[in-house]
Amino acid sequence: MSTKLQIYNTLTRKKEEFEPYNAPHVGLYVCGPTVYGDPHLGHARPAITFDLLFRYLTHQGYKVRYVRNVTDVGHLENDADAGDDKIAKKARLEQLEPMEVVQYYTLRYQDAMKELNVLPPSIEPRASGHIIEQIEMVKQILDNGFAYESNGSIYFDVEKYNTKHNYGKLSGRNIEEMISNTRTLDGQDEKRNGVDFALWKKASPEHIMRWPSPWSDGFPGWHLECSAMSTKYLGQPFDIHGGGMDLMFPHHECEIAQSVAAHGHEAVRYWMHNNMITINGQKMGKSLGNFITLEELFSGNHKLLEQVYSPMTIRFFILQAQYRSTLDFSNEALQAAEKGLQRLMAANRMLDRIKPSDSSTVDVADLPLRAYTALSDDLNSPIAIAVLFDWVRNINSLAEGKEKITQSDLETLTKEFRAIVFDVLGIVDEQGGGSKQAELTGKLIDMLLTMRLEAKARKDFETSDRIRNQLTEMGVTVRDRKDGFDWEIV
Ligand code: ZN
Repeated sequence: MSTKLQIYNTLTRKKEEFEPYNAPHVGLYVCGPTVYGDPHLGHARPAITFDLLFRYLTHQGYKVRYVRNVTDVGHLENDADAGDDKIAKKARLEQLEPMEVVQYYTLRYQDAMKELNVLPPSIEPRASGHIIEQIEMVKQILDNGFAYESNGSIYFDVEKYNTKHNYGKLSGRNIEEMISNTRTLDGQDEKRNGVDFALWKKASPEHIMRWPSPWSDGFPGWHLECSAMSTKYLGQPFDIHGGGMDLMFPHHECEIAQSVAAHGHEAVRYWMHNNMITINGQKMGKSLGNFITLEELFSGNHKLLEQVYSPMTIRFFILQAQYRSTLDFSNEALQAAEKGLQRLMAANRMLDRIKPSDSSTVDVADLPLRAYTALSDDLNSPIAIAVLFDWVRNINSLAEGKEKITQSDLETLTKEFRAIVFDVLGIVDEQGGGSKQAELTGKLIDMLLTMRLEAKARKDFETSDRIRNQLTEMGVTVRDRKDGFDWEIV
């Protein structure tokens, strides 16, 4: 495809043409979940955004190494350097070993991603499996003079770093403002400055997750794992680092500072951030009672939900917004997405029933040209989906005989339509081809309806009516067409 991908780089605040550092290889790193609770809506958007990027880059012919980490140590409750480790706290509450909590929720996360048809990354490293690499990075930062030891913990010296480099360049924050806004919290007095952040924390006697280091028995700071693991698996510089906008500060700002302090240059060439999801206009939060897990969405089991929403409805809904726009969840919006998805899937099935002619009245090159131009414009999936819907109308006209298409154009159209919908957007036809069972159901319905046509042809209306009525009772709507039939599971 000739259209060059343009990416909005959060660091430079403009769209840039994507040029891999070492084409055709692309290094992509995305911050994954902290695994201490059920996967929820907030997990779905970054996963689907970067799955679309992964799929699109692959579709363009790049060889992508996609690394998405699992945070299983060091993420403290207040996202700074105080409070309990989120996983250790859950382990204590549930009376489990922390790694049992990690294993349980990692599997839950992976299962939910599979439901959403999010492809697994190439590597899924865990923070606790890379303590040695993290200790090495702390040593480099200490050697370069950008960190200090205090009571067995190591802190990054933000003020000193900022005399030579620019702390705050990603988030656009002003360091003087940050210093004046930093409140003195209990347990933070070992820092020289409130804005400093932990690279290594000495563990208190009751802290379970601990490893030996040259400074103390302790654990790494949260931001360090992503710097250490991206360097290990993607080298530096590497191409794209992604994550939710909520991670821009402090997490990604600290990653930049750590890389520059350790290696003397930045590790990331393009920073990409997806926007957040709101629920009925409000931020999602446990205290607001609007916190919805993916399992609750898939089962409809939440007071805010009017019905069950399938994984593909959620995926399609997320893709209907460009990843940098806000996205508001509501029953109305989800129901509209569900209807749109059904129309798209019905058109896909219809492609197999179009009868070719000796000439074409439609220009099939229009579909890939416009859809890929939209996706190359910073992953503008809503425009690509609008182009698909233009073609849903064309496909319906073709099936009704209002437009004509040659055999070879029909093959091109079918191939391009399915490549965009299934390979790039990652949609699965949950009624027709999502699983072996769904595929079989589709084939059985087709078989019954073909038998019904045969019954009608020999004027056996009793049989043809019985097939139709029984299918209707089972929730299959049947529509007769000039040259056959069409059906939908409602
Ligand atoms: Zn990260």
